[in-house]
Amino acid sequence: MDCLFCKIIGGEIPSAKVYEDELVYAFRDINPQAPVHVLVVPKQHIASADEVTVDNSAAVAAIFTAIPKIAAAEGLGNGYRVITNIGEDGCQSVKHMHFHILGGKKLPESMA
Ligand code: AMP
Ligand code: ZN
Repeated sequence: MDCLFCKIIGGEIPSAKVYEDELVYAFRDINPQAPVHVLVVPKQHIASADEVTVDNSAAVAAIFTAIPKIAAAEGLGNGYRVITNIGEDGCQSVKHMHFHILGGKKLPESMA
């Protein structure tokens, strides 16, 4: 499958890894929007959060278990933001579900 994040997970395309377990891979965003900007993805290809079902939801649970560990390792004790973009109106540019962890500064209140 021609998927950028599947290639990153498979090591075909290099990435700055910050976390990995059986179900989850996390790496630094190449175009950071905050001092800390990490992308957390399931190793399984799931196109977006709109494709989550009971059958693949273990990946989502694993992602949200990994996020606090990553946040702590990145020094985000004062808070942070988790975002997932979905589809055209959500401006999702990579069609492999990913959760942005943004932090390291006071983020703008506006989300849209
Ligand atoms: P989204 O717009 O929510 O689909 O987010 C895709 C994110 O992937 C953007 O923030 C990009 O900067 C990031 N990105 C694209 N290519 C790479 C790459 N090769 N390594 C790391 N991050 C990437
Ligand atoms: Zn993929």
